[in-house]
Amino acid sequence: MSGCVIICPVGFVEKDILDRIAGHIEARCGVVCRVFQKMDKPEYAYDERRCQYNSKLILKHLIKLSPKDILGFMGVTHVDLFVPILKYVFGLAEMEGQCSIISMHRLRPQFYDRPPDRDLLVERARKTALHELGHCLGLTHCRNRRCVMYSSTKIEDTDFKQADFCPTCSELFKWQLDKCPRASGCKS
Ligand SMILES: [Zn+2]
Ligand SMILES: [Zn+2]
Repeated sequence: MSGCVIICPVGFVEKDILDRIAGHIEARCGVVCRVFQKMDKPEYAYDERRCQYNSKLILKHLIKLSPKDILGFMGVTHVDLFVPILKYVFGLAEMEGQCSIISMHRLRPQFYDRPPDRDLLVERARKTALHELGHCLGLTHCRNRRCVMYSSTKIEDTDFKQADFCPTCSELFKWQLDKCPRASGCKS
């Protein structure tokens, strides 16, 4: 499994969603992306007062378990994530590291009292995943609101941006990928 991106469900996540996120990462980043076995629901990260899960604790856990030679290790979960200074986060990544975690809790149309829409959920999850992977490769937030590296603070931001890097971020991503030692042999 060396040199690729591994997606790992944290708690139950539907397989077709994971496969579609992986397919998008392969298509947009040109790296092999595989879905790994499931991890238990992260009860260790549950905050009783907030009724949410601390994304920093989950990220720490992933860092401990991540194979050392791969490019990226991304947890995907349905639980609602937060960082102590914010009400919620869609995802969190280790800057220039391997690990990231994304949540679909607030990507579901039902969260906003809309009918379920699997395609919309997947599209939002793909954008969130690509954004966090960008951080892992050292990309920071982009000011272009259509770029996937634009910082989403609300779901409308996610819906407005494209599921792809802008030309500048795309160049930067490729450049970072070329010089990352863990990326060797991972081009799909
Ligand atoms: Zn970000
Ligand atoms: Zn950009």
